Amino acid sequence: MIEIIKTKAALDARLSEVRKSGKTIGLVPTMGALHAGHASLVERSVRENGFTVVSDFVNPTQFNDKNDLKHYPRTFEADCALLERVGADCVFFPEVSEMYPEPDTRHFSYPPTDTVMEGVRRPGHFNGVCQIVSKLFYAVKPTRAYFGEKDFQQIAVIQAMVKDLDIPVEICPCPIVREQDGLALSSRNRLLDASERLLAVNISRALFLSQAFAKTHSVRETRNYVVSMLDALEGLRVEYFEIVDAKSLLPVESWNDAGAVQGCITVYCGKTPVRLIDNIKYK
Ligand code: AMP
Repeated sequence: MIEIIKTKAALDARLSEVRKSGKTIGLVPTMGALHAGHASLVERSVRENGFTVVSDFVNPTQFNDKNDLKHYPRTFEADCALLERVGADCVFFPEVSEMYPEPDTRHFSYPPTDTVMEGVRRPGHFNGVCQIVSKLFYAVKPTRAYFGEKDFQQIAVIQAMVKDLDIPVEICPCPIVREQDGLALSSRNRLLDASERLLAVNISRALFLSQAFAKTHSVRETRNYVVSMLDALEGLRVEYFEIVDAKSLLPVESWNDAGAVQGCITVYCGKTPVRLIDNIKYK
């Protein structure tokens, strides 16, 4: 059985022993409802560290939409089974009161990484992410921490925070894991019904098609190509699609404006609707 730890004190006691034995510690922060995308992060941490902690905590401070928080899937028993299968050493599963005995009044601000794209549409989201991730870093003091490129902007914000606070941790970005048809795995995919699931595949499809399109078209044309393809489908609505410098996250006007260029998209899918994100590398 995987070791389940619910308090920071118990975690600290356990990790002191681990450190004494000379092992490195890998941390994989998650909000649970685990799938193969999370599993790939955990597997990498298990390969690269002597001890792997996975946090499983639906962090209320990063939800700007309380309805989204209410409907966020919770599957702790299945999460434990998956973590055991992939070889994690322990799961940190705290109550909200354990992580926030008092309201967290800290304000994190790392423009432009946290002011563009998701930063505009989800006010307070990245502040909440920095609150919980910094608390997890202080509690675990990991050698390495693993984050998925599915949340491309989140990695940039966390890298800025780690630099700002001088936290001695190596941030390890991990590639997006997709379903066979291309849809990026997400805990939110389980909120899609069968017809919405079929519709959702068009998001990654449009992004992949745009990679080829981009070779012979401008940034603006590529942007319009993706947005018009998806908005033409009933049941999908693009919230934004931005083609940005992969480092600064600021929009580029030409392919030569940056060394690495990424396209980041958020789409509303279906009746509820479910908010889905994805991204693609152009260069
Ligand atoms: P979440 O539980 O959604 O907060 O995600 C926890 C971590 O898993 C984050 O670093 C995500 O970027 C990562 N993750 C989520 N979905 C995927 C995926 N499809 N591929 C790779 N990493 C992912």
